[in-house]
Amino acid sequence: MGNERARGGEGRKSVAFVTLGCAKNEVDTEHMRARATAAGYALTDDPEAADAIVVNTCSFIQAATEESLEAIFEAADLPNVRDGGAALVVAGCMPARYGEDLEAELTEAGAFVPCSHEDDIVLVLADVIGEASPGAEGAPARGVAGERGPVSAYVKISDGCDRFCSYCTIPYIRGRYRSFPLDDVRAEVAAKVAAGVREIVLIAQDTGRWGTDFEEPSTLAALVGALAEEHPGTWFRVMYLQPEGLTDEYLEAVAAHPNVCDYFDIPLQHVDAGILRAMNRTGSRGEFEELLARVRRRIPDATLRTTLIAGFPGETDGQFEELCAFVEDAGFDYVGVFPYSREEGTRAFDLPGQVDEDEKADRAQRLRDVADAVCAPRVAERIGRTLDVLVEGREEDGQLFGRAMCQAPEVDGVTYLEDGEVGQVVRVTIGDTLLYEMEGA
Ligand code: SF4
Repeated sequence: MGNERARGGEGRKSVAFVTLGCAKNEVDTEHMRARATAAGYALTDDPEAADAIVVNTCSFIQAATEESLEAIFEAADLPNVRDGGAALVVAGCMPARYGEDLEAELTEAGAFVPCSHEDDIVLVLADVIGEASPGAEGAPARGVAGERGPVSAYVKISDGCDRFCSYCTIPYIRGRYRSFPLDDVRAEVAAKVAAGVREIVLIAQDTGRWGTDFEEPSTLAALVGALAEEHPGTWFRVMYLQPEGLTDEYLEAVAAHPNVCDYFDIPLQHVDAGILRAMNRTGSRGEFEELLARVRRRIPDATLRTTLIAGFPGETDGQFEELCAFVEDAGFDYVGVFPYSREEGTRAFDLPGQVDEDEKADRAQRLRDVADAVCAPRVAERIGRTLDVLVEGREEDGQLFGRAMCQAPEVDGVTYLEDGEVGQVVRVTIGDTLLYEMEGA
């Protein structure tokens, strides 16, 4: 499917990336972009002007698969793809999950690149649009700081997952857990800090497990401590910390480093011990309450976030009520709620007691309402407090915004403020809040 038409200007072949799904996928796209750039391809944000369009898909749940398919069909319908002048490449979770079935169905695509082969993106591009033009190596390294601008960036510290939660496709899509070596993470963080990034968000499917698979095992606490000491002017934030990863050693590392956000994103998914076992997870309401108490004993100002699933197979009214009661009492600052999604190929797919779709949506909404009723007042309790805010940018109307340590990117709202430069950390006294947004006085 090669072609001789050069759409990238100055004779250079150009590539557009379209990313679906979570922050982890964004990081994967960023790495593919960096490889393409280093190989001499030009990057463009305009798929219609590209020689190749790489759609980096998500298929974690059915809804994500449908969204990815829509993006693929949209790209396939662009004039440059329809007339054969541009190649369509489908990358990421969908080829990993559906393999040859997908290739047979999606004849519009010229190539498929599952997650495990994304390092080969340059070979794939060479195959579908020809090699990058000679002499183009000086192309600007766009994307170094991620898609969200230069102030904050995600860094992935591992890939895959060994937990095999019964509802989850990730271990089948992404494979077994693999920590990225310390030196690689360090180098990536150093490059981002040198490029002006002021907040590094460490992500993985299971961040707390980092280092346990090394020949000489290490820990997330050691990693975070080392990074925080190397870059004292940079904020570090850890997401996706499974309950088992919340060790005392990690709490000590957070307490010891003021530039490590005292922010704990702990996906619990449920609190009923029976449901948790059916999810192939551990814990119980009592254990989780003790876990949260342990965090607060060591770090009284800790910000706590969790994610929960409503309507898991077999969830009774009583078990759902217990989940609501837990959210009412636990004092989380932020709660993400998802209705259970029945995914083919997972063990939970065949569990008895599947909950009706409408009922799942109702339960999820009820749980969100419970969460809003307890979390929004907690955000409002910050009125009058003075917080460090990292200035991120301006809205279209010129309004300056940033985030405090208690606000993770993309999920917890922002803080509006009057004065400051993008990239600066400024002291802001909170004057008002609106649900999850905060405003400087
Ligand atoms: S911890 Fe569970 S839910 Fe998270 S990626 Fe691993 S298997 Fe999936």
